[in-house]
Amino acid sequence: MAGSSEGVGDKELPPILEQRCILQSEALSQYILETSVYPREPEALKELRQLTATDLRQAPAIRFWNAMATGPDEMQFLSMLLKLMNAKKTLEIGVFTGYSLLATALSLPHDGEIIAIDTNRKNFELGLPFFEKAGVAHKVDFREGLALPILNELAKEEKYKGWFDFVFVDADKSNYMNYHERVVEMVRVGGIIGYDNTLWNGSVVAEAIVERPFPWYIMESRDAILKFNAYLAADPRVEICHLSISDGLTLCRRLH
Ligand code: SAM
Ligand code: CA
Repeated sequence: MAGSSEGVGDKELPPILEQRCILQSEALSQYILETSVYPREPEALKELRQLTATDLRQAPAIRFWNAMATGPDEMQFLSMLLKLMNAKKTLEIGVFTGYSLLATALSLPHDGEIIAIDTNRKNFELGLPFFEKAGVAHKVDFREGLALPILNELAKEEKYKGWFDFVFVDADKSNYMNYHERVVEMVRVGGIIGYDNTLWNGSVVAEAIVERPFPWYIMESRDAILKFNAYLAADPRVEICHLSISDGLTLCRRLH
């Protein structure tokens, strides 16, 4: 997890993260998942989610399993969006074991292309067998390393100007603004950039929730998320939609 503000090292996993949904109601969140999401979740995704939630839970380096993988309800929504857009070329920043990446790969046509960036190839390789089993591994071009220098290289290539239909950003929150400045030129006009965790466990209104103090790693990136949300709201290059699904998801549609 080098370079990630989501890395927790040896510190304790606080109970707050067991509740991923911003609804702040475990029961309502479970209801959505059990009624509408799990029964429709593709088999490969289900298996990958279970591997992430069980095997990795035992690994001391990945005690953040529950908060790291994108919520299945959010990916159900994004899968539909990708199909509605007829998306073919996508970029993902922040892969982990690949739940959002696999959901994306399953939603693109056979000749779809995804560039996926993460500092940690090992976690991606844990999930890779599920991509292979589902027959979608050929769509993924995994690039290991820090996202910023990789994006800087991509941005130099004429090919990638206005190239992607969809970009999903789910890595270090302190760099969201830097990622936006790069990817906004690389997504096509009318294309979508999705920023994950933009409600950051509800901490964006932390003053209002005094009875629930937030752990250090949430507070550490809270300012970055607050600044980023304000910056997106004022960016004339994109139309935005701030959704309260999962931990918050902001969609940006490139205008020109
Ligand atoms: N989208 C993933 C999923 O659905 O399972 C979860 C991604 S996880 C929240 C964040 C990931 O970002 C981690 O795997 C971490 O290694 C990666 N990451 C953190 N900082 C990064 C950086 N500066 N460049 C590239 N990857 C980074
Ligand atoms: Ca996330």
